[in-house]
Amino acid sequence: MNFDPIPLSDGDMEFWLELRALLDELVTEEVLEQERRTGSGHCQPLHEALGRRGLVLSTWPRSRGGAGLTRLREYLLERELLERDVPTVTRTTTLNVALTLDKWGSEHARGEILPRVAAGHVCICLGYTEPESGSDMAAARCRAVRDGDSWLVTGQKMFTTGAQHCQYSFVLARTDQQAPKHRGLTMFLVPLQTPQVEVQAVRTLSGERSNIVFYDGARVPDTLRVGPVNAGWTTVNDAVAAEHGIIDDSPEGIPPTDFGGRYDFELRRLLDDALRWATEAGPDGRRPIDDPAVRRRLAQASVDYELALSTPGHLGRVSSSLQLIHWSSEFLDMVGPAGCIPRGRPGAVLDGRFEWWHRFAQGTAIYGGTTDIFRTMIAQRDLGLPRPPR
Ligand SMILES: Cc1cc2nc3c(=O)[nH]c(=O)nc-3n(C[C@H](O)[C@H](O)[C@H](O)COP(=O)(O)OP(=O)(O)OC[C@H]3O[C@@H](n4cnc5c(N)ncnc54)[C@H](O)[C@@H]3O)c2cc1C
Repeated sequence: MNFDPIPLSDGDMEFWLELRALLDELVTEEVLEQERRTGSGHCQPLHEALGRRGLVLSTWPRSRGGAGLTRLREYLLERELLERDVPTVTRTTTLNVALTLDKWGSEHARGEILPRVAAGHVCICLGYTEPESGSDMAAARCRAVRDGDSWLVTGQKMFTTGAQHCQYSFVLARTDQQAPKHRGLTMFLVPLQTPQVEVQAVRTLSGERSNIVFYDGARVPDTLRVGPVNAGWTTVNDAVAAEHGIIDDSPEGIPPTDFGGRYDFELRRLLDDALRWATEAGPDGRRPIDDPAVRRRLAQASVDYELALSTPGHLGRVSSSLQLIHWSSEFLDMVGPAGCIPRGRPGAVLDGRFEWWHRFAQGTAIYGGTTDIFRTMIAQRDLGLPRPPR
C-alpha cells in the first residue's frame, strides 16, 4: 500500500476548485433537507445537472457523454459528493449497471440507453434480492419466459433501492427451470414504467427508502437482455464486482472510488462529529474533551479509523463496517442519554447525529452483501481456504 500524499497538479487543483464551486451551488439546504426527510438516495435535478457536465459517467470520454476524468479527478469528485452528503445511491447503482451494459448490452442498449444514462435522464436500480434469496442470490425464482421477440418477467424483488426514480431495473431472472441454479439465469433491463410492474415502498431502520417490486408478466424486448441467455451469473458478477470495487486496479495508486462497499469515510465523519461534541463547552463551561476518559476513547477511535482506512479489499469492507457499528455504539455511550434523542426533538445532541449514526451503522453490515458473506470471500479468495463440503 502506498501511503504517500497524492500529488495534485495545477490543473487538478483548478478542477477541484471549480467542482467545489459547482457543488456549492447545486447542493442546497433544500436538497439535503429533502433527503433527510425522504431517505430516497437521489435528487433528479442535481443528477441531471451533473449529467450535463458529463459527471455521471465521469471517466467516460466526452464523445460518449462523460467528462473524460482521470482516476484522480474521479476520486476528487466522488469524495466531494460524499463529503457534502449528496444523495448518490441511485447514481451509484446506475453507474455499476452502465459498466456492465457497456460490456454485455445489445447494440440498442449501448447506442440508445447509455447516452441517456450519461446525460442523467435514465437511472437504473438493482433487482437481485428476492424475499427468499439475498445472500444466496443464485437461488432467484423470478422467471423470464420467451415470447417471440420479447420475454415476460414474473416474480418479486426485495430491496430494489431507487426503483421509484428509475426507468429500468437490472433484473436477475430464471430462464431455465431445469438447469443447475447458477446456470439457468439471465440478466434483463426491465422497464419499470409499465402497468405490469408495481413498486411498493419499504422503510429501513436508518430511514432509507427501498422497495419491493412486483413483476406480473412485464414485457421486455430481447434487445434489453444483458448478456447471453442462461449466462446471467457471469453477467451479474461483473456488476457485483464493480459494486465491490474489485475490478478497480487503481493505476495511479488512488483508492477505489466505489465507496459503496466500504465505510471508512463514514467512520471519519462519525469521528468528526464526536470531536465536535467533545470540544464544545457545556453550560458549565467544561468541555467533554477535558475528561481523560473521553480523550482515550477518541484516540482509540482515531487509531481504528486509520486501521480501517489502511485495510484494502474485502478485509477493508468488513473492518470498516464493524468499526462503524462499534464506534457508533461507543459514542452513544460516551455522550449519554441525550445522544439517543433523534433529530428535531428538544435536547437532541448535534441535531440527533449520534442517534442516526447508530441506526445507519447497522445496515452497513448488509448492503451489497453481508459482512458474513465477505468473510467467506476472504477465506476462499484471499486466503485460498477450501470451500466447505456440501
Ligand atoms: C437498505 C438496503 C438496501 C438494499 N438495496 C438493494 C438493492 O438495491 N438491490 C438488491 O438487489 N438488494 C438490495 N439489498 C439487499 C441486500 O443485498 C441483502 O439484504 C443482503 O444481500 C442479505 O440478504 P438477505 O437480506 O436476504 O439476508 P439473508 O441472506 O437471508 O441472510 C440472513 C443472515 O444470515 C447470514 N448468512 C446468509 N448466508 C450465509 C452464509 N452462506 N454464510 C454465513 N452467513 C450467512 C447473513 O450474513 C445474515 O446475517 C438492500 C438491503 C438493504 C438493507
